[in-house]
Amino acid sequence: MKRFPVKLSVMAALLFVLLMLPTAVSALDSQVDLYVDGKLVARNYNARLIEDKPYISQSFLNQELSVLTVWDDKSQTLALERGKYKAQFVLNERYAIMQGETVRIDAPPIVLSNEIYLPADAVSKAMALKMTWDVVKHALLLYIPVGDWTPPSSPSSPSPAEPSSPATDTGSGGGQSGMPAANPGGSRDGVESAGGSTGGMSAIGSIQIVGDQVVIKADGAIQANTFTLTDPNRIVIDIPNSKLGTILNGEPSQLNGQITSTHPHIQRIRYALFSDNPSQVRLVVDLNQAVQYSLVPSNDPNQIILNISSKSYVVVLDAGHGGKDPGAIAYSGAYEKDYTLSLTTKIYQLLLEEPFIKPVLTRSDDTFIELDERAAIANRIDADLFLSIHGNTYIPSVSGTETYYYSSASKYFADVVHQHVVEATGFRDRGVRQQDYKVLRLANMPATLVEVGYISNKEQEELLYDSNFQDKIARAIVNAIKQYLQL
Ligand SMILES: [Zn+2]
Repeated sequence: MKRFPVKLSVMAALLFVLLMLPTAVSALDSQVDLYVDGKLVARNYNARLIEDKPYISQSFLNQELSVLTVWDDKSQTLALERGKYKAQFVLNERYAIMQGETVRIDAPPIVLSNEIYLPADAVSKAMALKMTWDVVKHALLLYIPVGDWTPPSSPSSPSPAEPSSPATDTGSGGGQSGMPAANPGGSRDGVESAGGSTGGMSAIGSIQIVGDQVVIKADGAIQANTFTLTDPNRIVIDIPNSKLGTILNGEPSQLNGQITSTHPHIQRIRYALFSDNPSQVRLVVDLNQAVQYSLVPSNDPNQIILNISSKSYVVVLDAGHGGKDPGAIAYSGAYEKDYTLSLTTKIYQLLLEEPFIKPVLTRSDDTFIELDERAAIANRIDADLFLSIHGNTYIPSVSGTETYYYSSASKYFADVVHQHVVEATGFRDRGVRQQDYKVLRLANMPATLVEVGYISNKEQEELLYDSNFQDKIARAIVNAIKQYLQL
């Protein structure tokens, strides 16, 4: 009584294995031969038989059938596009969107060996391909309708079996209107792809804000031209030779739309097909405040990364002399310390308006400060720049602007300040000079000292103590600082 059930269970197990074996073998040996227009183009798992249904891989669609594919990880959606035929497949879902309509499919897209496989019959239907499944030969025969669409030139290796000539080459003297008349419905697509033939049109499939970066991804190489607009602050990103993918950020894309933002400086990103001849997508990054931005070099040509930052620079402004130290005595008898405080305060006021500059004064009134303390103030707060304002003195006949630096790291800053000051004042250019001034030597950051003019010269004194003229100098120095900081 005890042995019989054991024997039965062994037999049942064996039977189970025998029954399961054919399925298991077929799943392992699921290779399918792929024929395109009657020619064998692929073996090696570009197509597979899964649960008795033929599947084809995303890379095969890309490389052999010129179907543009854009994967969106967030929504697990693969967008397909072949000329005017567009579809979206969702991983493991038994529905797809074909030409904007939701269609049930009897086999879901799946991932096998890091590759997305799509049910061949659904893809054929969506991309208007003709498909035959040969059960006996384990062969999938695909036919591309003749001339219905000319793929844009792509860097993928051309198939020797398929010498696909660009649409523009077919017209023998007739130009684009001389394209084959057999498929008038397709000519529009042909012309469109010819318009973007300089490197191929790239479809943008993803626009996202990641940290402080705006990341734009496409299915082909893209480049950006950027510029800014103010009131309100915006960054405009033009992407020549591009279009919007059928799926953008996992959603079927519209002609235009927007991406919401939780970034403190970015309000939202709007996008639209800005021009369709030539095709160009425009993105507008609406900002909550002015920001600095730069395009980040990327190893991926299909990607644009725009870095947004609001780093501010600390600029220490040092009004020369003060308190018990009057500095030089001007032609009229005025003190240098009063002119330096007045001009430096004007620069400070202007810099307060700059979103990325935090100005700091070494003195804001008639106070005496030691030279080493002036540099120490800048060093303590780890300032980015140190600028000391002075007025020169000599015999009355001498006039002009001199700008000083000590370390070679400060030379460029001195050059930029000097150039702007000389231009604004129109004073004689007495050059940028290296000098061991204590404030410059002790400052750890690029530091310069500008002797704007000679207060011992009658004409220059009148100008240097004039409020309107000081405004002019202050603006020039602010421009120099901004130029140096690339703001
Ligand atoms: Zn001085």
